[in-house]
Amino acid sequence: MKKIAVFPGSFDPITKGHESIILRALPLFDELYIAVGLNSEKKDFFPLEKRKEWIELVFKNCQNVKVITYQGLTVELCKQLNAHYILRGLRTSSDFEFERSIGQINKKLYSDIETIFFLTAPEYTALNSSIVRDVVRHGGDANQFVPDGVDLTGYK
Ligand code: ADP
Repeated sequence: MKKIAVFPGSFDPITKGHESIILRALPLFDELYIAVGLNSEKKDFFPLEKRKEWIELVFKNCQNVKVITYQGLTVELCKQLNAHYILRGLRTSSDFEFERSIGQINKKLYSDIETIFFLTAPEYTALNSSIVRDVVRHGGDANQFVPDGVDLTGYK
């Protein structure tokens, strides 16, 4: 059976922290879906299609990476894709508290799912999409925080 994983997130925008987790996860799975979700708690900054396009650009040479957008429950998406693994990243203890409840509830909703956590690489611990958006809003050099090829200039 193919090992299929889903990495769900807002990716608003993708950062070097996300990229690093995806590159580390790739050897473990046959297929990895990066699922750009509409998060009901967060307001989008970059358009959904642009966020998807940037991720496609970054992983254009990785045959086993697919980028999709979705709405609704992540476990329902996993069932549709026949994915049994959800990837998430952990930077801080508050990430852990948040992720633990989501992971435990997802397991209740779909017993065949396992959430796999990657500890962030130390150099990316301080990095998150919301800080990148703030830098963009205030005209700072945000491109240093996002993967090569992603150009955030012109957004505010
Ligand atoms: P969400 O809205 O679901 O939190 P994000 O795009 O903010 O979506 O994050 C998606 C996943 O990537 C989360 O598991 C988050 O912890 C992880 N992540 C975000 N930034 C980093 C980083 N710098 N290092 C490691 N993991 C990260």
